[in-house]
Amino acid sequence: MDIYLHNSLSRKREKFTPLSLESVGLYVCGPTVYDRAHIGNARPYTVFDVFVRLLRRLYPQVTYVRNITDIDDKIMDAAKKNGEDISELTLRTTQKFHEDMAAIGNFAPDIEPRATGHVSEMISMIEDLIEKGHAYAAEGHVLFSVKTLPSYGELSGVNQDEMLSGARVEVAPYKKDPEDFVLWKPSLQDGIMPGWESPWGYGRPGWHIECSAMSSKYLGQTFDIHGGGQDLIFPHHENEIAQSKGCHHGAPLARYWVHNGILTVGGEKMSKSLGNFITVDDLLSKMPGELIRFVILSTHYRQALDWNDQAVTQAKSGLDRLYNALRGRVIQEQELSLDHPLALALAEDINTPLAISYLHELATNINKSKSEDEKNKLASELKATGFVLGLLQQDPEVWFQGDFQDDEIISLIEAREEARKRRDFTEADRLRDALLAKDIILEDSPQGALWKRKG
Ligand code: AMP
Ligand code: ZN
Repeated sequence: MDIYLHNSLSRKREKFTPLSLESVGLYVCGPTVYDRAHIGNARPYTVFDVFVRLLRRLYPQVTYVRNITDIDDKIMDAAKKNGEDISELTLRTTQKFHEDMAAIGNFAPDIEPRATGHVSEMISMIEDLIEKGHAYAAEGHVLFSVKTLPSYGELSGVNQDEMLSGARVEVAPYKKDPEDFVLWKPSLQDGIMPGWESPWGYGRPGWHIECSAMSSKYLGQTFDIHGGGQDLIFPHHENEIAQSKGCHHGAPLARYWVHNGILTVGGEKMSKSLGNFITVDDLLSKMPGELIRFVILSTHYRQALDWNDQAVTQAKSGLDRLYNALRGRVIQEQELSLDHPLALALAEDINTPLAISYLHELATNINKSKSEDEKNKLASELKATGFVLGLLQQDPEVWFQGDFQDDEIISLIEAREEARKRRDFTEADRLRDALLAKDIILEDSPQGALWKRKG
């Protein structure tokens, strides 16, 4: 089976050919850990989780590296505001991030390097860039000299002249050229600012160099795939490329660049700075993580995805339908077959909405089939295909009961069960109607009453 990806570098759909058929390397820019992740942040990690699941079916070894950005001025500001130690804040936020990712069904990456653990690698890389004439030190800063790299702009299409004319009037005095960007900056030794000793004095690395240093350490100078949100293309990824190429004699950083589209609310990018964000944690108190995942995967990763109640309601009824098809079925564990249309959909530029339509097709066939054996066989296939998307792995009964925290409903259901046991069918019917008025549908089965929400 061949994988095709839209490569942001060539701006084309390309057949994916890894450097080695034995092992594939993937780097995805991780979170900046100063606050809880919002659902926009969850989008790339969910999309790449699915992609990695597919890669693991195809290649003997897949190394998925997703870093933790635990050096950043936003972290410093948040720690100051909270009156909290930086390391306490980053540790706490990282733990919460792990909880959020697990709740929406994302596996942990193979390697999760923290920027603070790799400052010496960053310093070496900066030294190397100075030695090769791509960077210069000035007033405790080190800057990358953009004009020394003629290919700069290859990913973003940003051209150096445009950058110059667009540069702000106030250019930092230590910059030779306005478009040069920071590799290292000075820190005050005030016990608040994070800092490390370096050949340029006490200071801290810039954000871009963190990813160049960590990706080359774990995946080598050139690796297969680099991912992240479209908002990172410029300047972050453009600068990562510049640094890595500058250091590695022009060797490309990654061969395929994959970028997810932006998650919006009312058409506007969800972001911490705009204040229009919903954290994963907040949502988890209102809905199961699997539903958040389903909403994210229902749109192709390169398109914009608007988060709204309608998208959630639609996803809820979709998941209810799929879980309903699995209800009461005898499942045989199996792996996704690589010639399955769902695998082919994912191989075609991670087409998760098309993959989900195949889940629905399976559910239709289960519902239509008259044979119990056939239903069980199809249900086993549904569960195995669901796995690659990180969906449908719960017990269906748990799914249908999971979002019930309403004690009143639970006691109505129990009272009806009691009435049925006493053969008081008038009372049982009255209670069934009372539940229906609350959008609860009951289905009697040999195991007792099963219930679900009207969707
Ligand atoms: P950050 O923690 O801000 O560095 O972002 C972590 C990841 O989330 C990056 O890959 C961003 O591109 C991505 N991201 C942030 N906001 C959004 C959004 N509204 N929609 C999609 N991806 C986003
Ligand atoms: Zn990065």
